[in-house]
Amino acid sequence: MLVVSGLCEPAHHKRRAPHVDLIKMTISLLEKTASAARTYVCEGLCASVAHAPKNLEEMDMTDHTRRETLALAAAAAGLALAPGFALAQAPAAPAPAAAGPTQAPGFYRQRIGDIIVTAINDGAGARPNLDGMVRNVETAEVARVLSSQFVPAAPFLNPFTTLVVQTGGRLILLDTGLGDNGPPGTGTWMRNFRAAGFDPTQVNTILISHFHGDHIGGIRLRGGEYQFPNAEIVVPEPEWAFWMSDERMNALPEAQRGGFMNARRVFSSIAGNVRRFVPGGEMAPGITSVPTFGHSPGHTGFVIASGNARLLYVGDAITTPSLYMTNPDWSPFFDMDEAAGRATRRRVLDMAATERLQMHVYHAPFPAQGFVTRAGTGFQFVPTPWNSAV
Ligand SMILES: [Zn+2]
Repeated sequence: MLVVSGLCEPAHHKRRAPHVDLIKMTISLLEKTASAARTYVCEGLCASVAHAPKNLEEMDMTDHTRRETLALAAAAAGLALAPGFALAQAPAAPAPAAAGPTQAPGFYRQRIGDIIVTAINDGAGARPNLDGMVRNVETAEVARVLSSQFVPAAPFLNPFTTLVVQTGGRLILLDTGLGDNGPPGTGTWMRNFRAAGFDPTQVNTILISHFHGDHIGGIRLRGGEYQFPNAEIVVPEPEWAFWMSDERMNALPEAQRGGFMNARRVFSSIAGNVRRFVPGGEMAPGITSVPTFGHSPGHTGFVIASGNARLLYVGDAITTPSLYMTNPDWSPFFDMDEAAGRATRRRVLDMAATERLQMHVYHAPFPAQGFVTRAGTGFQFVPTPWNSAV
């Protein structure tokens, strides 16, 4: 007897099996296996339903969902299935022979009081070496500090993880990732967003921390398509004033205009519909903006709060924890104002350590959430413990 555990749900009885061919193939495989029995028991919510087909025609195909089909296929291949095997983790079709192993979908949920937040990963960019990455420290010292924390340096991976907030019946994005505008290893955001059960047409609001390409790129794809047709886009006024200034852009040599050009690519044709805000006020139920200037002229964080629970979305006020939490006075190459960046980083880290405040750190290892404790002259990142329940 083949027992298929934890795979059924009441709704499956109402649906018609869409993968008859796969079921046929699976049954055929089972019947060719000497040890295979001919009785199939769905030991889930429909434990009373037992199927004992002598051949395919005796099997009520309408009773079998794709989920069961995949379970049978896996069982036929000799795989053990844990109860609660999730459809979202199974491939829709057999992977092409040439495809290598793939990672689980990159999304992670937790509750902040009554608010649900979901971290969505957009992959990682790879730097071949550390040269020039930290402005005010020798490369060898950067390598030593990374090595002491078991962080690979060649290549050095810089991950990107945004946050989705469900509050007051609204779906709100904090930054968008790169879309398809990023380097190899990035561009996984939409797949992970959909795997989490979201659809881009449902997004009501996009709150932007700052205008660097890894935070605004996903608003508009390379081909010109806007990914979130129903979303209001809301940006910090000082970011808009800086990046959309033709005067500032034209004062720079052409080779240094990339960020300005990208801001125009994303925003110019929708400029009339982009809402600008002065950092420091309430943005939505449970979301308040916080000025965290330095990394960029108008860089803004967001506090998500409900009841006694809080989460601070720091954006890039603090980037790689193993470098800039350990040494808050080190200046990442991408900090546009070094002194202001250092002051902001110290202020945020002091507050987070004192108030035991959980943070979402955009460039921290997935799911990019954790706390800090004081350690020497700096701080130590303590990742939020994984919780299998939401
Ligand atoms: Zn960034």
